[in-house]
Amino acid sequence: MITLKEALSKTPQEISEIRDQIMATAKANDLNAYIGFETADDGIPILMKDNIQVKDWSVTSGSKILQGYIAPYNATVVEKMQEKGFVPFGRANMDEFAMGSTTESSYYGITKNPHDTSRVPGGSSGGSAAAVAAGLAIAALGSDTGGSVRQPAAYCGVVGFKPTYGRVSRYGLAAYASSLDQIGTITQTVEDAAILYDAIKGHDPKDSTSAEFEIEDIANNLDIDRTLTIAVIDNYISEADDDIQKAYAFAVEKLKEAGHTIIHKEMTNTKYDIATYYIVATAEAATNLARFDGIRYGRQAENVKNLQELYFKSRSEGFGEEVKRRILLGNFVLSSGYYDAYYLKAQKVRHLIQDEFNVIFDEADMILSPVAPSVAPKIGTSSDPLEMYKSDMYTIAINLAGLPALSLPIMKNDDGMPIGLQLIGKAFNDKVVFDAAASLERAVKYKSN
Ligand code: GLN
Repeated sequence: MITLKEALSKTPQEISEIRDQIMATAKANDLNAYIGFETADDGIPILMKDNIQVKDWSVTSGSKILQGYIAPYNATVVEKMQEKGFVPFGRANMDEFAMGSTTESSYYGITKNPHDTSRVPGGSSGGSAAAVAAGLAIAALGSDTGGSVRQPAAYCGVVGFKPTYGRVSRYGLAAYASSLDQIGTITQTVEDAAILYDAIKGHDPKDSTSAEFEIEDIANNLDIDRTLTIAVIDNYISEADDDIQKAYAFAVEKLKEAGHTIIHKEMTNTKYDIATYYIVATAEAATNLARFDGIRYGRQAENVKNLQELYFKSRSEGFGEEVKRRILLGNFVLSSGYYDAYYLKAQKVRHLIQDEFNVIFDEADMILSPVAPSVAPKIGTSSDPLEMYKSDMYTIAINLAGLPALSLPIMKNDDGMPIGLQLIGKAFNDKVVFDAAASLERAVKYKSN
């Protein structure tokens, strides 16, 4: 598939032919990366995760409860993209309401990993990553609340970028956990990620958490030869599988050869990441998902006797198991008597996690970290929720701290499965993340086939 950069130099006629080709191949393909094939006006097609609203298109967030729901307006990212000649195209499969790490919880079926169809593509933006990796999309948008752009990108051997919190408007993104959610990009190259990020970033008065100051465009100003200080968190690495550690050691060598300075650090609060994230995320999710009552959005239960039963049946029938688990957990940690013990405490620990990153960033420009402790697991092997939550150990702290991070493919293991690593930057230093990532991408020479 041509890159986004290459697409920019094609004529409208060539682009429309490429779009028709993508549509035909995607329809014939059985990865189940797409759950809809909507297409818009002329322009370079960008695949949309199915939780980003495109006016007059169906949008389901991978849930039965939103079956039949039609978006009444465009997400801000869609409006911004269109100004740059990029148009929304197709709807990518995802874990229901972006809750999951495997794209197995979608009401619309499991998505498969194109490198090995017995494995998951990661999640929750698994459809976006699988499609870009399989040549079924030029580039895609996803959302990252705790790793959902970076982890599927790593599992599928493509580039996933999660911007600093506040850099990309969340207006029109179905809310999972509002203080963590951020729309991100899934692309074939680091440069493509910069091109797409440049198109969607920027202040939006419709999102009260949107940062008000603008930043320079990145794609045209990439500084691939600058040298940086990159921190390695030693106690992080030992918890990953051997092949991840091997890729990590390889990347560190390549960064040194490219002239970067590597420093070694420890982070002691990482043991609290998972507990903190799953308290904050489920509390916010329980609140956000309260609006799905069978009246205002999507699917409504039939044959009900009264209002109480309408709510009860619509929600019981409409939400899947994982979403229900999180609503229960979220309401539990917010309930009186437990609020202080869980939710308030988690908010305090969140600050400690942020502070610890700041201490590292006093000395380093960037942190290099695994994205996941293993390569993509087999389909059907992530049924224990706690085990699945644990596999988010490397990605969720970045959302708790609101930092920018980019995951890029480094090498493949002996089974041919891609391994990605992430570069994590200071808040609002997204540009530096791209500079370092472009340098690492050049140094490792990853080949997708
Ligand atoms: N796997 C994490 C979760 O289930 C992250 C998901 C996401 O980033 N949307 O919450």
